Amino acid sequence: MRTPFIVGNWKMNLNKANAATLVQDIITGLHTSIHEVEVGLCPPFPYLERISKLLEGSPIVLGAQDGHWAEHGAYTGEVAMPMLVDVGCRYVIIGHSERRQHSGETDFIVAKKIAAALEAGLRVILCVGETEEQRDQGVMEDIVAGQLQGALVECFPDDMASIILAYEPIWAIGTGKTASSEQAQEVHEFLRAWLSRRFGDATAETVRIQYGGSVKPGNIRSLITMPDIDGALVGGASLTAEAFLQIVHQSAG
Ligand code: PEP
Repeated sequence: MRTPFIVGNWKMNLNKANAATLVQDIITGLHTSIHEVEVGLCPPFPYLERISKLLEGSPIVLGAQDGHWAEHGAYTGEVAMPMLVDVGCRYVIIGHSERRQHSGETDFIVAKKIAAALEAGLRVILCVGETEEQRDQGVMEDIVAGQLQGALVECFPDDMASIILAYEPIWAIGTGKTASSEQAQEVHEFLRAWLSRRFGDATAETVRIQYGGSVKPGNIRSLITMPDIDGALVGGASLTAEAFLQIVHQSAG
């Protein structure tokens, strides 16, 4: 039984004051147990420490939107994985398509970041997904399999206990176009079959695979009831407590 995992990715949004208000509203409105649904928030770096304090005593876990592969050193502007742990993060998003697109992140870098995150004791949300063009060309499976192969090249079955996958079709991120639950399920099933071949059936059965791409209160239920969809990575709809809480509560049970 895989507990659904709903994570809000705030991206580069909000300011210090409204980030704190949003967290407080989410904590106040949350009425599920950690056994029904696990909830996480990924604020921008400057707000992590403050939000970590606000989350103390709540079941919500803190994550970061990225982290660097080096443990420390001369990497101006970067944030190391142990620093994320230091400010209270329990996990980190790696390989988001926006980082692949705007920051030149390759599968090689993604693999190095995964190794650094695991070494630091963080759990990883590894994002994969195809463009609309790739889907139209019928190479979607090759693309996501290639991303998995590149990212998980150094990983062993035991590492998969700390890795969550997020299938995020790029054409559905922030566009309002959602993959239908059937389209998403088809890819999630493909990803799980890939994990089975690479790490064995038992491991593949335990790995959670989130869906991401314009998830909203109106579509979460049909997505979460699919057999291989184990949660959601939520961008835009995580910026208001009401929408995010509706997504969380509809994912429970
Ligand atoms: C995301 O950023 O991971 C995402 C899925 O964004 P949105 O929900 O806004 O499409």
